Amino acid sequence: MQASSHILKRLKERGHRFTKTRGLLLELLLKSPEPLSALDLQKAFSRSGTTVAKTTVYREFAFLMKEKVIRELDFGDSIKRYEIMPDNHHHHIMCVNCRKIEEVVLEKDLDSEEKMIAKNKQFKILNHSLEFFGLCAKCQ
Ligand SMILES: [Zn+2]
Ligand SMILES: [Zn+2]
Repeated sequence: MQASSHILKRLKERGHRFTKTRGLLLELLLKSPEPLSALDLQKAFSRSGTTVAKTTVYREFAFLMKEKVIRELDFGDSIKRYEIMPDNHHHHIMCVNCRKIEEVVLEKDLDSEEKMIAKNKQFKILNHSLEFFGLCAKCQ
């Protein structure tokens, strides 16, 4: 688990200044067990007594994406969600009813499939994305 201070230090070394919003946003993303949307973050901000404009959140997301601090996740419901760039390679599972999202680590991941796809398609594969969908224990 990374600390927000480490990330902020890294950004400072690249010449970016510290802002209170950025620090808080990173902390919220780090603390959250699941990826967060702009709306989720706005709500979390207001719970902590801060009001942050949606445009500010989007601007921060764009900046942190560019700096490869966070990554965007697509669960096919047209809501963009973000998580801190993970140290461990993982996927997600989402409950289609309550929208709860959990991390999934595949025992063997897709190494052999990737090798086959690369060979068959003559591609050099850089990354893959795979999310699972279902009903959580509560929603079944
Ligand atoms: Zn559920
Ligand atoms: Zn994988």
